[in-house]
Amino acid sequence: MLWRLSYFFLWQLTGGALGWWQGGAWGAALGAGIAAWGWFFWDLSRGARVLGWLRTGDPEQTPVMRGIWGDTADRVRRLLRRHEVQLRDSEGRLQEFLAAMQATPNGVVLLDAQGRIEWCNQIAALHFGFDVRRDVMQSIGNLVREPAFTAYFAAKQFTRDVVLEGRASTSSRPVRISVHVHPYGDGRKLLLSRDVTALEQAEAMRSDFVANVSHEIRTPLTVLAGFVETLQTLSLSQEEQSRYLGMMSQQAQRMQSVVQDLLTLSRLEGSPPPGMGEWTAVHALLQRCEMEGRALSALVTQGQQKPHQISFPDPQRLIDAGELAGSAAELQSALSNLISNAVRYTPAGGSITVEWLPMTDGAAMFLVRDTGPGIAPEHIPRLTERFYRVDRSRSRETGGTGLGLAIVKHVLQRHGASLEITSTVGKGSVFAVNFPASRLRISDSTGSRQPVSSE
Ligand code: ADP
Repeated sequence: MLWRLSYFFLWQLTGGALGWWQGGAWGAALGAGIAAWGWFFWDLSRGARVLGWLRTGDPEQTPVMRGIWGDTADRVRRLLRRHEVQLRDSEGRLQEFLAAMQATPNGVVLLDAQGRIEWCNQIAALHFGFDVRRDVMQSIGNLVREPAFTAYFAAKQFTRDVVLEGRASTSSRPVRISVHVHPYGDGRKLLLSRDVTALEQAEAMRSDFVANVSHEIRTPLTVLAGFVETLQTLSLSQEEQSRYLGMMSQQAQRMQSVVQDLLTLSRLEGSPPPGMGEWTAVHALLQRCEMEGRALSALVTQGQQKPHQISFPDPQRLIDAGELAGSAAELQSALSNLISNAVRYTPAGGSITVEWLPMTDGAAMFLVRDTGPGIAPEHIPRLTERFYRVDRSRSRETGGTGLGLAIVKHVLQRHGASLEITSTVGKGSVFAVNFPASRLRISDSTGSRQPVSSE
């Protein structure tokens, strides 16, 4: 400020001195006046330069000058720089926050007080079919037109969620989306969406399972209760009584098998998969399967004209098949189950062939081939579902529970193996189990054990 005043007086003094030199006292007064106006315009032009620069606000173009206007420009430049840094920081934080919102597995939509979309993440766009850029500031009510959502949004009762059909839903692949609105701030809303398809399917499966189990247990129980009542109320001959008791024992056995298989399934689901510590010789495994299969075949073809033609691999060749890693009891039950199905569903006189095929990469395949009734293609993908049967009466006749292949699938999954089913109606079926090389090992000439694969 002092400099400014000094400059002003310097101008006046110079103007006054020049005026004095030219025209005495009057000349001095005129010179000082002209100098004051000159200073005023010079100062105005400097102010105008700073003002012009402020209009662009570009810190790079700051006018370089001294005095009060130079200081003002410099201070404004520093303020602009600080503001720029703060803006960049906030922008960075906003981008990080939006990236976190994008990373959530749920859909997130921010709505303004009028219900217009301010921002939404990719998952929400997928759930509702939004275009992340084009639909910004569009009203959610115009974009999500499902009546359930319209009613939910209009009622403003946001204490619960509403379940809608996802935009990508098709009849073969339904998608269900749970939507929950959370009001915040000044009438704004946060809309969260979650894919609940798997959850709903699991719930449907659970209730189907409970209904199936109840049905499977209730049917023999009702028959048993009927027989008990008959025995209690009617005076039956010794022969009739023993016939009834035989039928009662059959029903009790049926219930026992269902309960046994359910317990097996629950044990398989509840225990960790068997590790690589236990090894079972393939030839011993198949020998036990052969014994059980032949015994079952003799039982089911009892009194029939022709027995089954059953063939198993040569036990001598199986000695070289090596060992399988995993639980011997589980593997035995899975492979036996496939053989038992072939025996139970193949009519007397049909043939059942069991094979063990080592692959060149060290993997191996266990095959059960039969000449039974075969299975229509539409049933094949569902055979490993619990209680799924192609022919209910045939399954029950042969003592089936409908849980056999579900158990097989579980056991194989736990052993890194997979099941492949191919079948032709009227010709027969092939159930193939693929064991990976990592689960097999063979003996070398010194008798020590080596993994089959080089993995
Ligand atoms: P189940 O106890 O009824 O045999 P599974 O789970 O073992 O139950 O098999 C499911 C269904 O698959 C059976 O009910 C049967 O209809 C069909 N199935 C299984 N194995 C065979 C086979 N070898 N030949 C024909 N149908 C089969």
